Amino acid sequence: MESINNIAIIGGGPAASTLAILLRRAGRDVAMYYLPEKAPVVVGESLVPMIIPMLQDLGIEPEVAACSTLKPGACFTFDGAETFAFRFADNPDNLPEYSYNVPRKHFNETLRNAARNAGVKLLERPARLQRSGADGIMLDTESLQAASDCWQGSEPDLIVDAAGRVRLIGQLLDIPVQKGSREDIALFAHVDHTELLDPGYVHTDRLEHGWSWRIPLPQRVSLGFVVPADYAGGSDETPEQQYDRLLRKDSVVRKFAPQAQRLTPVQRFRNYQSRSTRWRGDNWVMLGDSGGFVDPVFSSGMLIAMDSAYKLAETISRGKPLSSYEQAICQHLQAWFEIVGHYYDGRIMASIKSGESFARTAAGRLLTPWISGHMSSIFSGAAATRPVSMTLLRILVKYGLQNIDPQRYVIH
Ligand SMILES: Cc1cc2nc3c(=O)[nH]c(=O)nc-3n(C[C@H](O)[C@H](O)[C@H](O)COP(=O)(O)OP(=O)(O)OC[C@H]3O[C@@H](n4cnc5c(N)ncnc54)[C@H](O)[C@@H]3O)c2cc1C
Repeated sequence: MESINNIAIIGGGPAASTLAILLRRAGRDVAMYYLPEKAPVVVGESLVPMIIPMLQDLGIEPEVAACSTLKPGACFTFDGAETFAFRFADNPDNLPEYSYNVPRKHFNETLRNAARNAGVKLLERPARLQRSGADGIMLDTESLQAASDCWQGSEPDLIVDAAGRVRLIGQLLDIPVQKGSREDIALFAHVDHTELLDPGYVHTDRLEHGWSWRIPLPQRVSLGFVVPADYAGGSDETPEQQYDRLLRKDSVVRKFAPQAQRLTPVQRFRNYQSRSTRWRGDNWVMLGDSGGFVDPVFSSGMLIAMDSAYKLAETISRGKPLSSYEQAICQHLQAWFEIVGHYYDGRIMASIKSGESFARTAAGRLLTPWISGHMSSIFSGAAATRPVSMTLLRILVKYGLQNIDPQRYVIH
């Protein structure tokens, strides 16, 4: 592949900024078009531990830590009665032992500042694209002019779509997406407080229908509902009407948030499980949510977005073909779809439950630390890129349930 020197990145989220910093470090000329966040709150607040090495490499961990809540673990509850808690400090040595819950606007700004300091040209304006030939795209005249001092007026060698779920290039080139199997609605807002089993832990609670997250943030809790559309309420209702009713109606929510007061408007997401059937073309490539998003459960979105930026930066700086990046990303997403599917079908929790009795047997005493290490890699974000962890997961969810019925943990 010809050397790529001049790069336009569209988007101001974690995927865009991470890539921009890494490409500047590799000596490329990078302009990043971004739009400041308009909504008062932005989803993507619970980070998995595997992001920590990236924050350290990008030099932003102290700033992120200062505005965030330390996240020592994750817990999953079922009907408000049964709890599975995972403490990251118990992770094996090769996994980070903590993470953060981050106010996203602040997190995005921190990353953009780091990009600016790295020498990226930040353009606070939308980038507009147009088609060029059969499969190419180009910046429109105004967008190009805005970056005129960056590439001496010529079109960039590569345009990166990191503009998130709007799928700029996917829409422009009419690239089909593969939809996921869930068709839930997610409703998201901040509330003043909820009860928490463990401070700082991200809580994932099975509700009467669907599930909810509780992400403890400084002075508030992010509370989101992921529920079937008909459980959310009428399609003519506002997001606030749907959210406020769920807050009072669901019997599980009433237990942990009986007094919760909503502090922000509500955001509603639909049809978010999807992945592009193509991620690259002659002079363009997709990154982060613009190419695909799996599901909010297990907080994989930010990890995939930032990890993909590392993979793309390496591909470009080493002159590798973009097809190798596309292949790696598709495998990563596929693995997450598989992991997430086993949260919804109840098999991950059933296998963990069954592991509790196995641990008391002679074989269990020998094998459990090894198995637990691999299971920890799921909640830390590492499993999807570790073939041994994925193989073990497949074996456990198929053969390791003993007499535990996964229906007990299914998400309806
Ligand atoms: C309901 C829900 C809950 C989630 N919870 C979590 C969680 O707890 N943890 C987690 O890790 N992930 C979570 N995610 C996923 C996470 O939010 C995303 O995966 C992540 O934000 C992707 O980053 P990104 O940089 O690809 O895109 P984004 O963060 O969406 O950033 C894209 C940016 O591009 C900008 N943009 C758009 N068009 C243009 C244009 N024309 N020109 C310039 N800029 C443009 C947008 O303004 C935006 O700032 C959740 C997702 C959903 C739907």
